[in-house]
Amino acid sequence: MKITFLGAVDGVTGSRHLVDTGERRMLLDCGLFQGFKQQRERNWLFPEALRDLDAVVLSHAHLDHSGYLPALVKHGFRGPIHASPATCDLAAVLLLDSAHLQEEDARRANRYGYSKHAKALPLYTKADARRAIAQLVPLPPGRELKFGAAAGATRIHLTPVGHLLGACAVRLEHRGTRVLFSGDVGRHDDLLMPPPQPPEAADVLLVESTYGNREHVHEDSAQRLAAIVRETVARGGSVVMPAFAVGRAQALLLVLQRLRAGGLVPRSLPIFLDSPMATEATTLYRQHGKLLRVKPRELATLMDGVRIVADAAASMRLSAARFPRVVISASGMATGGRVLHHLKMLAPDERNAIVFAGFQVGGSRGARLVAGERETKIHGEFVPVRATVHHLQGFSAHADRHELLQWLRALRDKPPRQTFVVHGEPAAADSLRQAIERELRWPQVRVPQPGETVVL
Ligand SMILES: [Zn+2]
Repeated sequence: MKITFLGAVDGVTGSRHLVDTGERRMLLDCGLFQGFKQQRERNWLFPEALRDLDAVVLSHAHLDHSGYLPALVKHGFRGPIHASPATCDLAAVLLLDSAHLQEEDARRANRYGYSKHAKALPLYTKADARRAIAQLVPLPPGRELKFGAAAGATRIHLTPVGHLLGACAVRLEHRGTRVLFSGDVGRHDDLLMPPPQPPEAADVLLVESTYGNREHVHEDSAQRLAAIVRETVARGGSVVMPAFAVGRAQALLLVLQRLRAGGLVPRSLPIFLDSPMATEATTLYRQHGKLLRVKPRELATLMDGVRIVADAAASMRLSAARFPRVVISASGMATGGRVLHHLKMLAPDERNAIVFAGFQVGGSRGARLVAGERETKIHGEFVPVRATVHHLQGFSAHADRHELLQWLRALRDKPPRQTFVVHGEPAAADSLRQAIERELRWPQVRVPQPGETVVL
C-alpha cells in the first residue's frame, strides 16, 4: 500500500491524500487550496496523480477538504464520492456556492478588467459542481463500506469527530493494514457539536495539526461579543461579522440568541443573516439536529427575530443603511461573497466594528485585517479601515494542541506504527510531531513532504 500526500501538507488547505492499495486508488478528501496566492494558484495545476481514481472519501464538507471535487469531475472522474449523510447534504450547498463564487469572480474580473489574463475563466462552473454532487454517496458513520470481494476488499468506516455537522475520521482497511485519517478534529466544548469520538486503532495515522502549536485562549467569547455589540451600538455603529456560512454562522446565531435572551445585548437590535448559503445550512443543521449537542427546544429558536436577506439587491440596500445592526454574512475570511459589500460600506466609519470569529488563513483578507491592516482592496478599489477590528478565537471549531494530544491518547495501548502529521502550517505541524514523539513516545512520527509518496 502507498500513500501520496497531495495537499494540506505544508499548510491547512487543499487536503488530498491518495491511498493506492495496489488494487484500488482511493482519494481521502479532495480539497481546494485557499489563502496565499501561491496556494490558490495550485488549484489550476491538475495533478496527474488524481487520474484513474476508483473512489473519493470525504472527511467533511469544508471546502479545503471538498472544494476541488468539481474540478476533479471536470477532469473526468465519474466514480463514487463517499461521505456521511450530513456531509453529503452540506457539500451540496458548499460546492454550488463555491462554483457560483468562481463564476462571479471571473465575470467581475472580465467586467472591470483587473485580471492579468486576457480572459479570466472560472476554475469550475455550477454544472461541474452539480455533476460532483450527483456522485455523492452517503455512508452513515458506524457502518462499513466494502469495495471488492473478501480478501482483496477495501473497507471504509467513518467515526464522528465533532468540528462540523457530519465531520468524521475515515478508516480505510486493506489486506490487514488500517489507515486512519483524522480529518479535522473538533473541540470538547464546541457550541454545536458533541466532543469527538475516540479514534479507532490503526497501523498508519494521518492526523491534522491546525492548532498543533497553540492552546485556545480561554476567553469567554460570548461575553466579549456582548461587550463589542453593546459598545458599537452605543456609539451608533453596526457590527459586521464575516462568518463561514456553515457551522460558524449557526454558532454565532446561537450565541446571539443566548445573549439576547439574557438581556446582554439589546433585544430590539436587528440581526440580519445575509448569506443564502448560511440560511440553507441553518435548515440542514436543524434537520440533522440529532447530531448536535443543542437541545431541540433551543434549536427551534435559532432563527427567532433574525431577518433573512433574500437577494443581492436587498443586501446592497442593507449595506448602505444607516441604523445600528448586526450583520452575519459570508465568506468567513472575507475573501468573497456578500460580506465584501458590507465591509466596503462599514469599514471606513470608526463607529462600526468588524468581528472575525475563528481561524483566518494566512494571506486571506481576514488574516490581514486581524493583523492590523488599515486599508484593504475590495473589487479593485482601496477601502480605508477605520472601524474597530476584533478577532474572537474562542469560536474555533478545531481541537487545540492539548485536545489533539488528548484525542490521540485513546490509542496509547496500541499506537500506530507510523504517524504522519498533516493539515498544519509548518511550525504547527512540527510542534505536534515533537509533542507526539516526546509526550506519547510513538515510533516514526513525520511531517511528509508535499507530493511525497510513502510505501507502507
Ligand atoms: Zn474543517
